[in-house]
Amino acid sequence: MDCVFCKIASGEIPSKKAYEDEKICAFYDLDPQAPVHILIIPKEHISSIKEITPENSGIVAHIFEVAVKLAKENHLDNGFRIVNNCGEDGGQTVQHLHIHLLGGRSMKWPPG
Ligand code: AMP
Ligand code: ZN
Repeated sequence: MDCVFCKIASGEIPSKKAYEDEKICAFYDLDPQAPVHILIIPKEHISSIKEITPENSGIVAHIFEVAVKLAKENHLDNGFRIVNNCGEDGGQTVQHLHIHLLGGRSMKWPPG
């Protein structure tokens, strides 16, 4: 399958990794939107959050747990934002489930 995040997970495409275990990996976004901008993905190809079921939803909890750990490691003590873009209207450009961990600056609300 021609999926850039599957290739990052397998190491076929290089990335600056922030975390890795057998189920998920985290790496720095190529086009950072904040001083800290890390993407966290399941290694298994799941195309979006719409594909989450009772059988695979544990991966989402694990991703959030690691996001909080990475926020602490990156000293985001004043807060941070976790974003999931889903589908065209949500602004999803890579069709492999990922969450963005953004921090190191004050975030605006509502997002654009
Ligand atoms: P989204 O728009 O939510 O689908 O987010 C996709 C994100 O992936 C964007 O922020 C891109 O900058 C980022 N991205 C795309 N290709 C790469 C790559 N090879 N390495 C790191 N980040 C990437
Ligand atoms: Zn994939």
